[in-house]
Amino acid sequence: MCRSARSINLRFVAACAVWAWLWLVADGQAIAADAARLPNFVIVYADDLGYADVGCFGAKGIRTPNIDRLANEGAKFTSFYVAQAVCSASRTALLTGCYPNRLGILGALGPQSQIGIHADETTLAEVLKARGYATAIYGKWHLGHREKFLPTNHGFDDYFGLPYSNDMWPKHPAAPPGTYPELPLLSGTKVVDKNPDQSQLTTWYAEHAVKFIAANKDKPFFLYVPHAMPHVPIYVSEKHAGKSQAGLYGDVIEEIDWSVGQILAAIEEHGLDDNTLVIFTSDNGPWLSYGNHAGSAGPLREGKGTAWEGGVRVPFAARWPGKIPAGTASSETAATIDVLPTLAKLAGAPLPERKIDGKDIWPLLAGEKNAKSPHDAYYFYWGRELHAIRAGKWKLHFPHPYRALTGKPGRDGKPHGYSEQKTELVLYDLDADVGEKHDLAADNPEVVARLTALAEDARADLGDALANRKGSGVREPGKL
Ligand code: MG
Repeated sequence: MCRSARSINLRFVAACAVWAWLWLVADGQAIAADAARLPNFVIVYADDLGYADVGCFGAKGIRTPNIDRLANEGAKFTSFYVAQAVCSASRTALLTGCYPNRLGILGALGPQSQIGIHADETTLAEVLKARGYATAIYGKWHLGHREKFLPTNHGFDDYFGLPYSNDMWPKHPAAPPGTYPELPLLSGTKVVDKNPDQSQLTTWYAEHAVKFIAANKDKPFFLYVPHAMPHVPIYVSEKHAGKSQAGLYGDVIEEIDWSVGQILAAIEEHGLDDNTLVIFTSDNGPWLSYGNHAGSAGPLREGKGTAWEGGVRVPFAARWPGKIPAGTASSETAATIDVLPTLAKLAGAPLPERKIDGKDIWPLLAGEKNAKSPHDAYYFYWGRELHAIRAGKWKLHFPHPYRALTGKPGRDGKPHGYSEQKTELVLYDLDADVGEKHDLAADNPEVVARLTALAEDARADLGDALANRKGSGVREPGKL
């Protein structure tokens, strides 16, 4: 090759390299520049596990050394939120980065439900699959149990688990006998067990997770483990029965912790520690009416099914050696809607084409100095009703009905103790009053006005049944 041609070639290669670098940096994706080393992602999502149910968040009588290890060797977020304090709505937010109201998936989809995530929506699994990830879910789906809505039609290569909640329906303590379908355990789209032994669910999900990690150790993977437990009815395997100091409920949590240990051991065994982000959190707070079969929200008010902190604030720990500084804690607000855009950035994947609500929280996870929540506010709906908004340290509740534990709670799997209550407009300073006890609305009219204006943005976009508003940004769920 003549000298000038070689020089042109070198200039061309250099220009390409600079262009590629600029493209990646400009797109905020420099971290994913080396496609051969795309990070693995693991999300362990407990069901109805309360804010104070794990050691690093103050649990009593329950040992969770593996979940604590995530926090000790990584980060813990103390103001981490779900979008709605109930199963299907919460899962929608985690897997799509959208408020569930935007996608029309509300509450908990029952066995008679005919809806699911719309095919035009993009799940986290699809976002990552487009970047070459192997994807799997082992556990509770609960985002539409008809075949067209199952995980394998939403970006997951492999699925083993229950398509809806483990109390649906002969197993529900309060269900009338009769016409309900059985509880199917699916492998892919096939029923493999019509009434699985729930004492084995946590073990089975852990075993599938470990096998998946081994099978995909040489390529990037996304592993989603949404445990059925500790949602009632609670069951534990013989391995952990009677082992905690907190009864059956404590045993169940210790077994979930064991599953996290199994996953961490598999990651270590295959030399993937420094390339794997592991997240642990819960889909909503404790179902308090179940008494000794429910968890604890610690100092937080109320639990599952409410927009009070005990319903929507959940424990969160994330570990990625070398990328997340060990032992860091953040009280900045963050939420499940932020998981999809954050992992998309880390994987160098484009965001879904349709509008999403979440934002990148990697600066918070990475412990960057002075990193702040990327949101002006988070909104807490119950169904189609906007119940509360959090902005900075302030939380404003609009007048709304809610269920409160006012009576004696249930025992041994039978629920009891809720009554219907109503709150007026109330404002809390969560930095000083995490239990939402001291209403400061009258003393802070300018804060009330600012948060009310922010809520108006949400009402215009997502609607609010309490204000008789529809919302211009609401999309249709998938229908049969
Ligand atoms: Mg739940």
